[in-house]
Amino acid sequence: IGGMTAVADSEALATLHRVFGYEAFRGEQEAVIEHVVTGGDAVVLMPTGGGKSLCYQIPALVRPGTGVVVSPLIALMQDQVDALRALGVRAGFMNSTQDFDERRMVEAEFLAGELDLLYLAPERLRLEPTLDLLSRGKISVFAIDEAHCVSQWGHDFRPDYLALSLLGERWPDVPRIALTATATRATHQEITQRLGMPAARHFEASFDRPNIQYRIVPKADPKKQLLHFLREEHAGDAGIVYCLSRNSVEKTAEFLSRNGVEAVPYHAGLDAGTRAAHQSRFLREEGLVVVATIAFGMGIDKPDVRFVAHLDLPKSVEGYYQETGRAGRDGQPSTAWMAYGLNDVVQQRKLIQSGEGDEAFRRRAAAHLDAMLALCETVRCRRGQLLAYFGQEADATACGNCDTCTAPPETWDGTVAAQKVLSTVVRLQRERGQKFGAVQIIDILLGKRTAKVIQFDHDQLSVFGIGEELAEGEWRGVIRQLLAQGLLAVEGEYGTLVLTEASGSVLRREREVPLRKEPKKPVTSRSGGSG
Ligand code: ADP
Ligand code: ZN
Repeated sequence: IGGMTAVADSEALATLHRVFGYEAFRGEQEAVIEHVVTGGDAVVLMPTGGGKSLCYQIPALVRPGTGVVVSPLIALMQDQVDALRALGVRAGFMNSTQDFDERRMVEAEFLAGELDLLYLAPERLRLEPTLDLLSRGKISVFAIDEAHCVSQWGHDFRPDYLALSLLGERWPDVPRIALTATATRATHQEITQRLGMPAARHFEASFDRPNIQYRIVPKADPKKQLLHFLREEHAGDAGIVYCLSRNSVEKTAEFLSRNGVEAVPYHAGLDAGTRAAHQSRFLREEGLVVVATIAFGMGIDKPDVRFVAHLDLPKSVEGYYQETGRAGRDGQPSTAWMAYGLNDVVQQRKLIQSGEGDEAFRRRAAAHLDAMLALCETVRCRRGQLLAYFGQEADATACGNCDTCTAPPETWDGTVAAQKVLSTVVRLQRERGQKFGAVQIIDILLGKRTAKVIQFDHDQLSVFGIGEELAEGEWRGVIRQLLAQGLLAVEGEYGTLVLTEASGSVLRREREVPLRKEPKKPVTSRSGGSG
C-alpha cells in the first residue's frame, strides 16, 4: 500500500503542477486527495475559498474514468466547465439549461470515456435514465458538493440530496467525497449518515479567516449607518450588502445609488436577465456594490470582495459564516459588518413561528437563531466564538481583529450563574436520567411550582429555587450565552440542554464565565430608530 500511495501522491502532485499550475497543495488537500485517489470515501469540511474543488478534480484526473460531480449550483456549471476546459481538462455538465442536442453530446462523450469530469444537478442524477447512463460508463469518483444540503435541519436543505445515498449502493467500488463549507459537527455526522458513508474519513480544515474583521453594531438607522461605514472605510470597494426582503434590497440599492455609491439590487423577484447582468457586472467591475437577498453569492468566486454587510440578522451562524466568507478570498484585509437590533430578533422569531415545517423544525430553527443571537451578544472575541461554534475551539487569546477585541463590551462575572445552570442539567441527568429544555431548567432555578415541575417532582431537587437572584429573562440570557460559549449544548428535536466537554471545567471551578451585560430591555435602548 505504501508504494501505491507514493505513486498516487506523485501523480497527484504532477497533476497539480501540470494541469492547474500550482506549486504545492494547501492545508488538507494533499491528505484528502491521497485518500480518495486510493479509493477511500471522504467527508471534507473546508471553508469557502479553502480549495475544495481540487480535492475531487485531481482524483478525477488521476483515477481512470469520469469524476461525477453533484452540485446544486446549476447557474455556475457552465462557468466551472469553461474554466476547466481552458486548463485542458475534458469537462462537461448536464442540467436543465441545456437543449437536447447539447445533452446528447455530453452523454456520448461520457460513454466514450472522453470526459474527466461531469457536473450534474442532484435532481437529474436521481432520475433512472441518468443512473442508467452512468452505469454504462466508467466512473472514477463521485463528488457531492455543498453536502450540507442533505441536512434537513440546515439552512439549505434540498430534498434531492437525500436520494444520493443510492450512489454507494449502486457503485460500492467508486469512492465518494462529500464536501461542504458549512457544517457544525452535528451536520457533519448527518452528512455521513444520510449519504450512507459510515466508513468515510473526515477531514476538517480550520475555519479561521484571519483577514476578515468581524463587527456587529447596534442598529439605529441602518441605511445611514451603512452609508457611513462605506464612505469611511470602503469607498470604491466591491462588496455585498445582505437584506432579508426584496423590498429592503430595492430600497437600499436606491438609497446607496442616490448617495453616490454605485449599487445594484439582486433578488429572486428580478427577471433572470437582470440578475445575470448584475452578477456579471459584479464579477467584472472593480467597485460595484450588490445589495442582495441570500439568493446572491452561493459559489461566486470573486477574490476581491472587500466587505460583506448585513442589514438584517442571518438565520444561522452557518449562514452568517458563509455569507461573510465571500469577503476577502484573496487574503487581503476585508470587513464583515452587521447592524443588529431588537427588530431582527422579533422578526426572525415571527418567521419561525409562522413559517412552514413541523414543531421539530421550528425548534431547530430557534436553536440556529439563538446561536446567531449569541454571536451578536458575545463578550468574547467574535472570531473565537465563531470557531467554537464550528467545534474549533480557538485559543483563549483574542484575535485583535474584531470589534469585541478592539472595544471590549461591559461584562459581569457569570461563573456562579453558569454553575447553577450546569448543576441543574447535571442533577436532572444523573439523578433522574432526564433531559429538559431551557424553560424547565429556568422554572427549577426560580423555584416555580408549575404543573410540569410538580409532575416530575422537580421541586424535590436540591437545586430547586437556587436561582432566585436573577429574573427569567436574565436566565434566558445566561443560557443563551452558555450555548454560545459551547459550555452547554442543545440536543434533539425537543431542544433539550446537555453538557459539553467544556462544561466540566466550569463545574469544577477551573474557569470563569464572563457574560455580556444584558440591557434591561435587551438592545431596545440602543435600537429605536427606523430599523
Ligand atoms: P472552495 O470551493 O473551497 O470555496 P476553490 O476550490 O474555489 O475553493 O478554491 C479557491 C481558490 O483557491 C481558487 O481560486 C483556487 O484556484 C485556489 N487554490 C485552490 N487550491 C490551491 C493551491 N493548492 N494552490 C494555489 N491556489 C489554490
Ligand atoms: Zn477578536
